[in-house]
Amino acid sequence: MTAPLIDPFARAIDYLRVSVTDRCDFRCVYCMSEDMTFLPKKDLLTLEELDRMCSTFVNMGVKKLRITGGEPLVRRNIMTFFNSMTRHLESGALSELTLTTNGSQLHRYADDLYAAGVRRVNISLDTLDDEKFAKITRWGRLANVIRGIDAAQKAGIRVKINAVALKGFNESELFTITEWCAERDMDLTWIEVMPMGDLGNEDRLDQYWALSDLRKKLAEQYTLTELTERTGGPARYMRLEESGQKMGFITPLTHNFCESCNRVRLTCTGELYMCLGQEDVADLRAPLRASESNEVLENAIRKAIALKPKGHDFDYSRQQVDGQMTRHMSHTGG
Ligand code: SAM
Ligand code: SF4
Repeated sequence: MTAPLIDPFARAIDYLRVSVTDRCDFRCVYCMSEDMTFLPKKDLLTLEELDRMCSTFVNMGVKKLRITGGEPLVRRNIMTFFNSMTRHLESGALSELTLTTNGSQLHRYADDLYAAGVRRVNISLDTLDDEKFAKITRWGRLANVIRGIDAAQKAGIRVKINAVALKGFNESELFTITEWCAERDMDLTWIEVMPMGDLGNEDRLDQYWALSDLRKKLAEQYTLTELTERTGGPARYMRLEESGQKMGFITPLTHNFCESCNRVRLTCTGELYMCLGQEDVADLRAPLRASESNEVLENAIRKAIALKPKGHDFDYSRQQVDGQMTRHMSHTGG
């Protein structure tokens, strides 16, 4: 182990989110345009390079790895990578290996993921209505995702559902989705839609459903108790007393969560984003490829962490999308 990663604001960086591909088998309207141009495969880190990159971070104190994308489970031979990370769980260096997925391929991989040491998975699902699901994901089929959830639970993997709160879209399903998650013993987190990328076809402000409003609606039927639990990320948690459920709220636009931020994001081309809402980025692919020893890479990582900004600048309050990011969530992995 080398010295742990501490940023200029004394935040220990122990959580790395890794996008393993920018490709996806869905085209969710808030995330991608229908005719996305993807990166040439040669620009992507190979699975071996991803292993070396993640192992270097683990060696520098990263305890939690979340694999994401694009859709991580469409990356060819992705299980090779998961299986190679198992050694860090076994050595105790890594405390959690997990992923965020749209669930479409999960039925094929659930048992293997469990065998690799994955115990929790986040599955993104915004609606329980077949037609609405097809509309919001453009290319997805709800039945496949349900099949994936079934397989994950059967394998012994705990499932959390992430739903993007969308005005006029899933407002009417607030209670149905909540009850469905309770019945299946799954935690549920609502995400406020973020101004990511220029998708051209959707107006971010029209879709914006403030989670403070969602919470008010929820309080009509449930007694909500705020939990003090924080994970170093943008989520806050409430307990629904009547069902005992834990519900998360990710409100990057209405809450400042930056002071406790413990994470950085690696793209599939080896760029390190220090903050989801800022453009600060460091290329780690060149230092990785520059030398077979990890020293150059470690130095580049330390230099990058030293640039981690204090916070982000998203703001809807002036009725225009300020601080809008030009990159898509599929690029940084959400
Ligand atoms: N494909 C995987 C999935 O959908 O879970 C992983 C990558 S996806 C980019 C990660 C998360 O970002 C998903 O939960 C998705 O709903 C969320 N997301 C994408 N675009 C978003 C946006 N504009 N605002 C808020 N969340 C967004
Ligand atoms: Fe794909 Fe996930 Fe983006 Fe939907 S949110 S298009 S599933 S990467």
